[in-house]
Amino acid sequence: MSSARPSTPPVRDRADACPGALQTHSAADGELARVRVPGGLLRADQLRTLGAAAVELGDGALELTSRGNVQLRGLRPGAAGELGERLAAAGLLPSDTHETARNLLSSVLSGRAGGLLDARPWVRAFDAGLCADPSLAALPGRFLATFDDGRGDVAALGGDVGLLALSRDMVSLTLAGADSGLRATPEDAVALALAATRAFLTERAEQGGRAWRLAELTDGPARVTVRVGGAPGAARVDVPAEPRVRAIGAVPQDDGRTALAAVAPLGRLTAAQLPVLADLAAEVQLTPWRGVVVPDLADGSAAAALLVEVGLVLDPGSPWTRVTACAGLPRCAKSLADVRADVTAAVVVGALPADGARQHWAGCERRCGRPGGAVVDVVATASGYRVDAPTA
Ligand code: SF4
Repeated sequence: MSSARPSTPPVRDRADACPGALQTHSAADGELARVRVPGGLLRADQLRTLGAAAVELGDGALELTSRGNVQLRGLRPGAAGELGERLAAAGLLPSDTHETARNLLSSVLSGRAGGLLDARPWVRAFDAGLCADPSLAALPGRFLATFDDGRGDVAALGGDVGLLALSRDMVSLTLAGADSGLRATPEDAVALALAATRAFLTERAEQGGRAWRLAELTDGPARVTVRVGGAPGAARVDVPAEPRVRAIGAVPQDDGRTALAAVAPLGRLTAAQLPVLADLAAEVQLTPWRGVVVPDLADGSAAAALLVEVGLVLDPGSPWTRVTACAGLPRCAKSLADVRADVTAAVVVGALPADGARQHWAGCERRCGRPGGAVVDVVATASGYRVDAPTA
């Protein structure tokens, strides 16, 4: 069934404070802006806009998030206004009021390689429907919608609302990462997902209006199922607990061309990498595992050489595919160490702890950015790093 969720949902006493492009967060290294990229799909011109903004307004790099979004760090105070104008001109900010709710994940490579259908039209239609409905501006910034073309990669990521293709003509509505039992045709599926999103807000209001996620509501999935016309006892299918697919390297597309699925070390796209990516493809796709896919290549080998030259990783055996880290010093004042510098040094000299197992380095016990699944925690303490046994 779905990925693990807390058995006792947290009680929220405040609204979520997720940053956006306009509503920035103050960090130790300056303002932080998060730009939503529905489906992780970015045109080359949008990538250039983001890259120029990172260089001219921020610290020069783009951070990739686990929701396929991007962050700009080190923004000077007051830069959010100029950033917002640049993003709006590039089509990256279609709604000032809904921007933090546009957390939409799509199957990686959907419509290009594998999958039962193309999930990209769902993403575009859901995003348009979300932005067109004033009531949906009230969605918490933690809200997540997943659109899985049947390969089982993003359905596993616990979206509040999601669509999962079961066949070419039948789609499951998923709620809090599990099948609701409700079915739709691919053509009707987005309307059902939007109805479920509205029902989440209605149910949330009835239960006090404070929950950040559907799973935090009492019987949230069952009550939303009933609100959109389903039966709580309907037959269900299992949703993968972990993403079934995580391509790294060259992937043959259905049309004979090649896609390159690259890992960005520690989830950062640098000023040197961004123009290379924008030159190679008309559109790239950011992944929930903090990588980038460069699709539609006639000559995958030449493009691969360019990506590797600027530091992107295409080798599935690379330690960079198994290591993540929080912001650490000097970006976060709570950190006890410069975790990114330390983990980079450990990778370079081949000294990762836990025999190089999948691991997350953090500057304090909060462990921000920790990925799902079994991960070894490497946590900074006053006396050095503590390596914890792997936990899910
Ligand atoms: S885990 Fe701690 S040190 Fe790292 S970013 Fe989060 S709060 Fe900061």
